[in-house]
Amino acid sequence: ATRIVIKIGTSTLIHQNGKLNLLAIDQLCYTLSGLVNEGKQVILVSSGAIGAGLGQLGMTQRPAAIPEQQAIAAIGQTELMTVYQQRFSMYGQKIGQILLTHDVVDFPTSRQNVLNTFESLLTAGVIPIVNENDTVAVDELDHHTRFGDNDQLSALVATAVNADLLVMLSDIAGFYDKNPRKFKDAVLIKRVKQVDDQLFSHAGGSGTKLGTGGMTTKLKAAQMMLQAGGAMILASGKNPSIIFKLVAGEEMGTLFQ
Ligand code: ADP
Repeated sequence: ATRIVIKIGTSTLIHQNGKLNLLAIDQLCYTLSGLVNEGKQVILVSSGAIGAGLGQLGMTQRPAAIPEQQAIAAIGQTELMTVYQQRFSMYGQKIGQILLTHDVVDFPTSRQNVLNTFESLLTAGVIPIVNENDTVAVDELDHHTRFGDNDQLSALVATAVNADLLVMLSDIAGFYDKNPRKFKDAVLIKRVKQVDDQLFSHAGGSGTKLGTGGMTTKLKAAQMMLQAGGAMILASGKNPSIIFKLVAGEEMGTLFQ
């Protein structure tokens, strides 16, 4: 793959105690910088803004009210970008922040502007770091203004920029025939060629209180990639340096292709 989108979940970036997982973030930055040095074009879709904001405020749970969540996301987003900026610069890697709202889907002109920005950044060897613009996207349930979650946002970005590969790092080693947190005998599915209704019936919700999409949104993302002729790998984000192996074609996690 030459153009790769990496999506990293909250559960990988934030410890259970609410602190940023600096070890994982450092490894992620080291690895993605390495890929750019090998001549690859890399986009990072990063969750974790709300998680980081909660940590900053010493809170452990998301408040129910949307405006409060948005405020927390605003605090957490800068915290997250500050850490990315620090770590990436240690490896000589430049980054740029892209916050997206749904008008990139709804309005062709907005879409073109976004795509132009991606192209300029990628051509210059910069890693765009993407998140949903939580301040503007109003209602979590309103699908006209929100993407809903970064799983689907990452697939949207990957298909829009014609990426060959979407690597989705989660707190689980891949897609199983049932939720491994509930069933001890769950079996890892190594290869999926088609995402159909039957497959969705094996997908459960999120495993942690900070995780959002769970497996359903990850399957939707895989479906989008397959429809566009690309591929997706779902793997554990515990050691983000495995991205080197994944990109080199080593079999790990679940390959959707
Ligand atoms: P992230 O923050 O990385 O996006 P999520 O919590 O949203 O993580 O999604 C991953 C979780 O989905 C797993 O930890 C697991 O609890 C749950 N899950 C539900 N069904 C499955 C399945 N069939 N295979 C793997 N994980 C599943």
